[in-house]
Amino acid sequence: MFKDLIDQYNWEETEEKIYSKTAQEVENALTKQGRLTLDDFMALISPAAKPYLEPMAALSRKYTQERFGKTMQMFIPLYITNSCTNHCIYCGFNINNDIHRIVLDETQILEEAQAIKQLGDFQNVIVLTGENPKVANVDYVRRALELLRSYFSNLSVEIPPMEVDEYEQLIDAGLNGVTCFQETYHEARYKVYHPKGKKSNYTWRVNSYDRMGLAGVHKIGLGVLIGLEDWRTDLTMMALHLRYMEKTYWQTKYAVSFPRIRPHEGKEFQPNSIMDDRELAQSIFAFRLFDHDLDLSLSTRESPDFRDHMTTLGLTSISAGSKTDPGGYSVYKSELEQFMINDDRAPEVVAAAVKVQGYEVIWKDWDLCLQS
Ligand code: SF4
Repeated sequence: MFKDLIDQYNWEETEEKIYSKTAQEVENALTKQGRLTLDDFMALISPAAKPYLEPMAALSRKYTQERFGKTMQMFIPLYITNSCTNHCIYCGFNINNDIHRIVLDETQILEEAQAIKQLGDFQNVIVLTGENPKVANVDYVRRALELLRSYFSNLSVEIPPMEVDEYEQLIDAGLNGVTCFQETYHEARYKVYHPKGKKSNYTWRVNSYDRMGLAGVHKIGLGVLIGLEDWRTDLTMMALHLRYMEKTYWQTKYAVSFPRIRPHEGKEFQPNSIMDDRELAQSIFAFRLFDHDLDLSLSTRESPDFRDHMTTLGLTSISAGSKTDPGGYSVYKSELEQFMINDDRAPEVVAAAVKVQGYEVIWKDWDLCLQS
């Protein structure tokens, strides 16, 4: 299990290694033939790589076009419940927030599916829940997938970690992919952000990716919440995790996304580690250079300008038209979204912005198309 491997890496030593990388090591990584190592990744993510954004962008574009062509896949999230028993201190759905909790019933889930169909030709849908084992358990998610599979050809979930046999049940119900954000790989600090509830168990979460691999999930998505701990160290730990997964579960496809918390007015949770736009671009390039086959994704947390700018530089999928409250696409609106949307353009406007750059918009998953 991955926990055994990550236990061999000391956070502070890894951080020190990243921050002591030199320009020469960055250049070595950029000119290297063959697969990059974790050490190369650290160089590309380090402050020493900041002056090399242009060559990194050019290589990122080249590798992405070689593997994926000039395409951009579109997806949309579907929150089916905001009920949650966890205490994540950065999240609006946490149990201490006095908000109206919604668990969509079957009729409401179908209404959401129909409302999404009115927005665009979406085939890639990510179904999301909070963590409340009493109401949003495997039976509930399985039933949701069964209902949605006649509307969408590619269903993924972003749900609390499950057992192997539970993932298998979801695969039988039509599941293609699972995304799970580790939030942070810093075990001691993880406890600070997740003080109570099931999610406070770091080992259970960090080993959930192994359980997905063992169950045969077709595509696994990784991510850290950028803004919790030093983002360079967290991304390096994630690159380690990715390489481990690719070696251990080599038949699975992998995706990485980059949710970042940005500073904002008010008393809400403020990021401890800020990543600016150039650093986010650097991170995307570093992952593309590290892994040419990876699906790299940006959500509507990011601005229209940034998303448009990154379209040809390494991304392979973007969301559009997103609502992050259960029932948000139809009539059952709740009073709080999980996070603020930064790009509220209609899906056809986002698609037009992709096409104008000479890229084809893909509403389906090409791997599944090839399988069928
Ligand atoms: S991040 Fe997820 S598990 Fe944590 S409070 Fe929010 S919805 Fe619940």
